[in-house]
Amino acid sequence: MTAKIISFANQKGGVGKTTTTFEVAENLSQQFDKRVLIIDLDPQASLTSIKYDMRKLISEHMDNMTDVMIGKESIQDIIINLKENMDIAPTTLQLSDAELNLVNTTLRELVLSKNISTIKDDYDFILIDCPPSRGLLTVNALSASDYVLIPVQAEYQSLLGMQLLKKTIRDVKSQIKPDLKTLGYAVTMITPTNHAKDAIENIEHDNLDILAEIPRSVDVADASVANMSTYEYRKNNKAGKAYYELSKKINEL
Ligand code: ADP
Ligand code: MG
Repeated sequence: MTAKIISFANQKGGVGKTTTTFEVAENLSQQFDKRVLIIDLDPQASLTSIKYDMRKLISEHMDNMTDVMIGKESIQDIIINLKENMDIAPTTLQLSDAELNLVNTTLRELVLSKNISTIKDDYDFILIDCPPSRGLLTVNALSASDYVLIPVQAEYQSLLGMQLLKKTIRDVKSQIKPDLKTLGYAVTMITPTNHAKDAIENIEHDNLDILAEIPRSVDVADASVANMSTYEYRKNNKAGKAYYELSKKINEL
């Protein structure tokens, strides 16, 4: 059994990448009993701070994805077990310096891929939370992945810049990872407004599938503070159910 590797990518910030990575990881491990590794590849370290004690990471100078991306450590040496079926490769803000250093590294697009290949057999799913850019970190994530899912906010401007992200995905496919598959969109933070309805229609007209439509709910933010999926936190919450259904689809890949 070898892991399926999925990147959650969008060059825009605040669209739900981290939340979607977190929700899918929680559901796959807790509801579907799958072994999951989450990799935090965003220098903002939001996923790390949801799942782990950032202060401990920094004060104890714990090795993290920054060290992996500069070639100082292997990924298996920085992985932390969080609970049964759930590990994290955490990061700190210094990852942004590592991205600058990568420019001068040989095979700079493949640093993550090479690292992941050594641990692939230890997991069912490896989920990568990408930074809000199309830089080398995102290219590393895509080059290491079997699939990419694009979280997109239910806003009219949401497809702005999407051509550029798609070009990055096409470039990675043609030059580095021919079998990278784009799963499509997860539309996030949907409100019961005409604006959101228009936005979804606009996204539907794009040529990628919509895998999930996630309503906006305060429970989603509260659940991540509680370090639980929304599905586990509030059984009947529609956003929680939508993330559960998305996870089910991913589980069947
Ligand atoms: P990104 O990783 O793309 O920057 P986040 O996942 O951090 O985006 O989401 C941005 C903010 O929106 C976070 O504060 C998160 O808690 C909140 N959020 C995400 N999805 C929902 C939702 N369905 N309902 C309410 N708040 C949400
Ligand atoms: Mg994020």
